[in-house]
Amino acid sequence: MPPRPKPNRILLKLSGEAMMGKQEFGIDDEAVSHFAAEIAGVARAGIEIAVVIGGGNIFRGLAIAAKGGDRVTGDHMGMLATVMNALALEAALAREGLEARALSAIEMPSVCETYVHRRAASHMANKVTVVLAGGTGNPFFTTDSGAALRALELECDALLKGTQVDGVYSADPHRDPTATRYEHVTFQEAISRGLEVMDTAAFALARDNGLPIIVFNIHEPGALARIVAGEVVGTLVSAG
Ligand code: UDP
Repeated sequence: MPPRPKPNRILLKLSGEAMMGKQEFGIDDEAVSHFAAEIAGVARAGIEIAVVIGGGNIFRGLAIAAKGGDRVTGDHMGMLATVMNALALEAALAREGLEARALSAIEMPSVCETYVHRRAASHMANKVTVVLAGGTGNPFFTTDSGAALRALELECDALLKGTQVDGVYSADPHRDPTATRYEHVTFQEAISRGLEVMDTAAFALARDNGLPIIVFNIHEPGALARIVAGEVVGTLVSAG
């Protein structure tokens, strides 16, 4: 088992689904406040953090495409949904007393800063937590791909993918009671065992560049702090 990374700079991927908490749709204040508190705790310990936020709790481009609509328009709408989530998280982080900035890959200058690599990197170096909206800024991608891309651009030590389950399983643990959880898998094992860690484009980017991914349960209190302390939490997906 390879040792766990003890990252100084992380990229946290938060899905839209997480943002809706127990609701069926939209943004749940309680869930967002909980994530903000977890992030603030880690930021106060000196960890530099970029959060890439999803939008599935509000809109997914595929929903329009499935009804015969225009995928590109749908994806633009999906990216706008991530901006709403980013603003909600930015506000919740400010309530925690943390300096945070939302940056959008889609220009929206009267609402938030535009994502510019050097700007985001400079914020992080100054211990300002950045909340990155708009995914990659392009249709036909997902925020998972945005997360892998930004993690590499911003030289993060690891990509932390917060999910609804506590790691990568051999099968869907909600459907298959015999499913077992992996503590570690290599990129190669994940492919050969058909494990779904992230979408294909995101996974390929991480694999090709040796970016470690840690999949963990975002709802578990203290999990984020334990991960940055180098403890074994969730599943580590890495090159070796
Ligand atoms: N999206 C996109 N390009 C990107 C990132 C996101 O077009 O680089 C759109 C796409 O329509 C997607 C939606 O934004 O369905 C919301 O993102 P995602 O589904 O990744 O959110 P999550 O599943 O994490 O909530």
